[in-house]
Amino acid sequence: MRLVLLGPPGAGKGTQAATMVEKYNIVHISTGDLLRAAVKAGTKLGLEAKGYMESGQLVPDSLILGLMEERIQQEDCQEGFLLDGFPRTPAQADALDEMLTKLGQKLDAVVNIEVPLDKLMVRLTGRRVCKTCGATYHVSFNPSPKGDLCGNCGAELIQRADDTEETVKNRLDVYEQQTAPLIDYYTKAGIIKNINGDQDIKKVLEDISIALGGKE
Ligand SMILES: [Zn+2]
Repeated sequence: MRLVLLGPPGAGKGTQAATMVEKYNIVHISTGDLLRAAVKAGTKLGLEAKGYMESGQLVPDSLILGLMEERIQQEDCQEGFLLDGFPRTPAQADALDEMLTKLGQKLDAVVNIEVPLDKLMVRLTGRRVCKTCGATYHVSFNPSPKGDLCGNCGAELIQRADDTEETVKNRLDVYEQQTAPLIDYYTKAGIIKNINGDQDIKKVLEDISIALGGKE
């Protein structure tokens, strides 16, 4: 199974990816992990990527694709892979398609997790973190038994700068603007599977499985 996973921040992609990888015996390939691993391994492409990252530049698509091409030919990707974080644009999707064609492969599906904006706002802005022990809570879904104080250590709970309403709104806007053309692209290609992410995590995973042609 060769898949791409799309979903906004707060859609629970991490959990879904972990389950899908196990279920289909495929490899989770996130762009960030891919780059870090290549840099660490000191491969030719890894060193090249390191140069870009150290000078604060974006790593070019061609380089990411090169790394991906190497990665998906490794033994553990025989049953397939789940791409996460790439492609982000139709141009990248085209390039990916070309690379896979060269390898005699193609994407089976693009799983697109959908959650209404207001729900994402609630999920993301409700996070609270203990500034002493790092315990995390959610004001609605996982509140501290001690209210505004940490249930573990009694210290004050804070909202991280990333989780304020303004920052969250901005992150979600950026995601939507960036991803809309990609969703169009894969819709036209006929391989998109839109999944309702605004339900119990088990149900989300069930729906993904059904969309991918499994039983439950
Ligand atoms: Zn604490």
